[in-house]
Formats: sequence, C-alpha cells, structure tokens
Amino acid sequence: MNIDRGPDPMGSLGDLYQEVILDHYRKPRNYGKLAVADRTAEGHNPLCGDRVALTVKLKGETIDDLKFEGKGCAISTASSSMMTESVKGKTRAEAGALFEKFHKLVTGAGSAGDLGKLEAFGGVSEFPVRVKCASLAWHTLKAAWEGGGTITTE
Ligand code: ZN
Repeated sequence: MNIDRGPDPMGSLGDLYQEVILDHYRKPRNYGKLAVADRTAEGHNPLCGDRVALTVKLKGETIDDLKFEGKGCAISTASSSMMTESVKGKTRAEAGALFEKFHKLVTGAGSAGDLGKLEAFGGVSEFPVRVKCASLAWHTLKAAWEGGGTITTE
C-alpha cells in the first residue's frame, strides 16, 4: 500500500504518522456515501492528489450524519475520518469553531489545547506541504454547508 504519495518532507514522516492517524487511515470511520443527503461537496488537493467527497445530512442547524469517500494520502484520509467523527451531532457553529481551532493547530498559529484526538495532527504544522492534506476534509465540509460544489485547494 502506498501510504505517502506526496513529497517527503525530509524523510522524517515517522513522527507525523502517529498511531491514531495510522489507525484512522487503515480503518476510516464514516466511510461511504449517504443514500439521502442534504449537502454534498467534493474537495481536491492537487499538490498531493488527495480527493474527498462528502455527503451530509442536516437536522436544522445540526450535522445529523455525514460520510466521506475519497482517495488520498494517510494524512488526508485520517483527517477526513476524524473530521466526520468530530463534527457529527454538532451544530454548524460548533463545527466551524472546531475547524478554526484545527486550522490553528495544523498551521502552527497557536496551540488549541482541547482538541482531543485531533491534536494528533499537531505535527503537521512542521510540514507546510501537509497542511492542505490535513485541512482538505474541513474545507470540503465548509463548502458543503455553504451550498456544495467542488473546491480545490491552492
Ligand atoms: Zn495528501
């Protein structure tokens, strides 16, 4: 299995692939497609080749259920899996706030502190090329609730 298809940041990916990330990469949670979805969106990270497609079911302002499909590196797949786990049952505002914290974590803009398992992605901040892999699913979620469509990271 080809775990890393992207540029290798100095061969020190070992630290980056913490156990929790590898676990979600090997056994992605909420993988698939909802038969009935209120929102769908697709995300593409051309830098690495990651693709993610989200189907989201809303109940009012709450993310009632969501699933993802896609192909990508370990970071993007694990991040998609953990994103779906983290936002299920949350309101749009709560999920948005979580994304803000997560983005700070992976860009190294500040320590988030209370992100739970998502803190496994803290190491990504040392590898700028990986930030887009880690945040792709979150950007795609944002696109989904803003009306859907396809987003491409730059
Ligand atoms: Zn990637």
